[in-house]
Amino acid sequence: MKFQACTIALAGLVAGCGVKQSTTLEPSATKEKPKPVAASPVKPKAKPEPAVTTTEATKPETQTIAKIAPQTQFEPTTQPQSKAPKKIVKTDAEWRAILSPEEYRILRQKGTERAFTGKFDHHFKKGTYTCKGCGTALFESNTKYNSGCGWPAFFKAKENTIAETVDRSYGMVRTEITCKKCDGHLGHVFDDGPNPTGIRYCVNSASMGFVPDEEEALAKQAAATPKK
Ligand SMILES: [Zn+2]
Repeated sequence: MKFQACTIALAGLVAGCGVKQSTTLEPSATKEKPKPVAASPVKPKAKPEPAVTTTEATKPETQTIAKIAPQTQFEPTTQPQSKAPKKIVKTDAEWRAILSPEEYRILRQKGTERAFTGKFDHHFKKGTYTCKGCGTALFESNTKYNSGCGWPAFFKAKENTIAETVDRSYGMVRTEITCKKCDGHLGHVFDDGPNPTGIRYCVNSASMGFVPDEEEALAKQAAATPKK
């Protein structure tokens, strides 16, 4: 009996094994089919990856957009500051069109006229000296003096009209002066001037224009007459 039971049990085990094998074979067969299915899930994995990168990429984009936005907000605040100087900017061709070759060489190329040759070196009429490039009033005739250096010299400039820059050309350390409005080169400034300032603005005649007081008076009269 025991043997029979054992044989039945074995048969059952074998049968069970057979069933198990058959069942295991079936999934193996099905596994072969899902392989392409398993390959397909790999593709979706690749798809989400770029999806993640795109979401990551969009995040910085939004951040950069957010950064750009405040910059544009700051622009208006800088614009009023830049309006203060009101610089005159022209191309070289435009400067050449309104300046003589000598004026262009000195004003725009930082040249220097020969000593004692300038038309204003010994010019002492009453009036206002202006920038030849843009017409800005730079010096009054009552601040001009004969320094003997060969160029027109002034001990005082009109306020906020002249910019000073260190000039290390020709092996010297000098202070270049330029027109604040058009950046035109005027000459140099030294600390060997007369009282009350002790400053000497050494200016090229070619860098300047001159408006006589008489002319200003006549212009005022001309401006006044039409009103009557
Ligand atoms: Zn100027």
